[in-house]
Amino acid sequence: MHSYMGKLLYVDLSKNSCQAVPLDERLAELFVGGKGFGAKILYDLLPPGCDPLSPENVLMFMAGPLTGTLAPAMRGCVITRSPLTGTFVDSYFGGHFAPEIRYAGFDGIIITGAAETPCYIWVDNGAAEIRNAAHLWGLDTFTFTELIKEELGDRTVKTACIGPAGEKKVSFALVNCEYNRHAGRGGTGAVMGAKNLKAVVLRGRKVIRPYDPSAFQTAVDQAYRELQAEGGISAFTVDGTAGSIDFANDEHLLPAYNYYDGAFDGAAGLNAAAQRKQLWLRNVACAGCPIACGKVGRIRRGRHKGLVSDVVEYETAAMMGSNLGIGDVREVAYLVKKCDALGLDGMSAGGVIGFAMEAFKKGIITAADTEGVNLAFGDVAAADYLLEIIAARKEGLGDTLAGGVKKAAQVLGGGSADFAVHIKGLECPAWGPRTVPGMALALATADRGGCHQRAFPILYEVGGFWNGEPVERLGLKDKGEIVAYLQNYLAGLDTLVKCDFAQYGIKAETYCRMLTAATGRNWTVEELLLLGERVWNQVRLFNLREGFSRSDDTLPKRFMEEPLPGGPYKGHMITEADLNRLLDDYYSSRGWDREGAPTTAKLEQLNLAAQPPLFHL
Ligand code: SF4
Repeated sequence: MHSYMGKLLYVDLSKNSCQAVPLDERLAELFVGGKGFGAKILYDLLPPGCDPLSPENVLMFMAGPLTGTLAPAMRGCVITRSPLTGTFVDSYFGGHFAPEIRYAGFDGIIITGAAETPCYIWVDNGAAEIRNAAHLWGLDTFTFTELIKEELGDRTVKTACIGPAGEKKVSFALVNCEYNRHAGRGGTGAVMGAKNLKAVVLRGRKVIRPYDPSAFQTAVDQAYRELQAEGGISAFTVDGTAGSIDFANDEHLLPAYNYYDGAFDGAAGLNAAAQRKQLWLRNVACAGCPIACGKVGRIRRGRHKGLVSDVVEYETAAMMGSNLGIGDVREVAYLVKKCDALGLDGMSAGGVIGFAMEAFKKGIITAADTEGVNLAFGDVAAADYLLEIIAARKEGLGDTLAGGVKKAAQVLGGGSADFAVHIKGLECPAWGPRTVPGMALALATADRGGCHQRAFPILYEVGGFWNGEPVERLGLKDKGEIVAYLQNYLAGLDTLVKCDFAQYGIKAETYCRMLTAATGRNWTVEELLLLGERVWNQVRLFNLREGFSRSDDTLPKRFMEEPLPGGPYKGHMITEADLNRLLDDYYSSRGWDREGAPTTAKLEQLNLAAQPPLFHL
């Protein structure tokens, strides 16, 4: 199996055991890596109905067959059953941790069980052991990363750790990789916390061997040329994702005041120009990425002067900025860094705080619940206070909000479910979909809950074209087919664990050329799409088994019953009839029945009708 390390590391924390398990060739053939491996192994290993925070849940760190090679912008993912949604969740991270999984000798790490006391997993060039982490428990992510490098006497070791929020099992706790890269979404950090697992720490020197090194180098060169030629990609180098603030604001897609509106008066205080003026010093990149969308920043003036930060990327700039009515990027940088240190997903945190601020405005949360703190929109101190009590799961409001907006609304009542903006329990991303029905459908059907990374049809809806044919932004026609296609394509690439931004530049044929040269198996674009469809359906089978159905492929009330209050699209929303038409078209495009279950014929076409386990101890 060229380009594979040929082994998965299996760690049972309950048994205090680590074991190298040979990679099943059929698993590599049918699912390739990354999301594909995670989808199949989670389905095989998890007992149906397994509590995400129980020892039986399985947590995986997966790489792809191109991760750690010269192929540009390949990353890693964490896969588990989400404590926030109960669905399959795959959460992606950049930086240098994923290549190190492979240099340490493995294609992925599978963790089950729970340790009796805090521990970390240490993997050193193929040898793995479970070590005591009692003295490291309670540390924030930055301090932990510094101390473990010091303790091991090697600053080059790579870390994936949780902060206090993960230890407290906050449902939207993240996994922090090497200071400034995160597996943010879906509460993977809470699963680590439930396992008493502070971190996975890696070091390796093993070599990845492509099948045809010369052809692989040629394909990689082509990928680099395509990245350099694509105008949209260079925008990521110049502005990171902060460039999207102006676009989203102009198009009335930017969440403001808990998604009440689609534009924000203070957007100019959050955009790329503001970040350049207030923060940025230079670009930084994940391993092997020529785009370098990240920025090292240092706040130049004001009360946070000297605070070192990364780029305040679009999602957190919007969720912790405009969505909370905060228009000063220095304050947002401060709040985002606090999330990173505590180990909280900044996107969900922004959704939860926006929800709490609206609940306060409506008298559902009162000063008696907040120790007298006024949870007004725009109040940075209020957001700061909420982050503290959520990460600590402080009895009362902190504990309630730590479950995410869906569960918080169930606890608080008082009609708060009407403005709890989530899908399947995952707080929505920073793209209000009331004027982009394709995006609304993509969010409603995303496998891990409200997520914009499984398909992003906004580009075609606002751009007006799909495959050279005109597309109506507000229309429903063709949207089901477009979303299904994009989901399949991106799920195919998520088996390689590509970066979302690089895939806008690298052509599908070039990904196939790199994969072919690396593995020795011939790949076509059609096969890549079929692979993605197989993975998408495998995840669907998992979610259906866990009780999800058509009724969960829906949108928050805010997008279906409250029209946009202003701007050129004033009055627009996605009606229930719109959503039903979109879902019917989408299910039909997928070869699913009206309830959203894959038909037998579809499963047979995808080689999923029989499900022999493909992971064996
Ligand atoms: S584009 Fe940005 S996030 Fe993607 S791999 Fe490159 S540096 Fe990392």
